[in-house]
Amino acid sequence: MGSNWFTVEAIDDVTYGISEDNHWEKVHSYLVLGSRKVCLVDTGLGIGNIREIVEEITDLPVEVITTHVHWDHIGGHHLFESIAVHQNDERWLRKGIPLPLDKVKEYLLKDVDKDKLPPNFKPDAYRLFTGEPTHILVDSEVIDLGKRKLQVIHTPGHSPGHI
Ligand SMILES: [Zn+2]
Repeated sequence: MGSNWFTVEAIDDVTYGISEDNHWEKVHSYLVLGSRKVCLVDTGLGIGNIREIVEEITDLPVEVITTHVHWDHIGGHHLFESIAVHQNDERWLRKGIPLPLDKVKEYLLKDVDKDKLPPNFKPDAYRLFTGEPTHILVDSEVIDLGKRKLQVIHTPGHSPGHI
């Protein structure tokens, strides 16, 4: 089962951590549930199918919130239709990050235990996500999920549009 790739932890009834502990990057994505929609904060490495995990937890509409456009946070973006990104990282999302695919694959597969990879993961088919965001975020913006609000805090440095 590919879903074994992820470790899902309920932080509370409406907040989940989705972690990739089998990988040296130790990536965490977060699922934040409201009453009308949910936000998936980052989509991880793109090794396992994070959409399947989300759909096991909720059937509400999902908006992906991108903390920043680095390869290890946008791996599953292609599995979703609704994607938000800060305005200062928008260009990287649309055109690609300034890191060659070979380098990314080297990081992606470094020290990885092949026996723990999901059987349907094909390293040769791995691509860096590029696509059109559906929502451009700005500092202080409030995202209303229904009975729950998230506020965008712009924290540039690690990337220009890090939030
Ligand atoms: Zn990063």
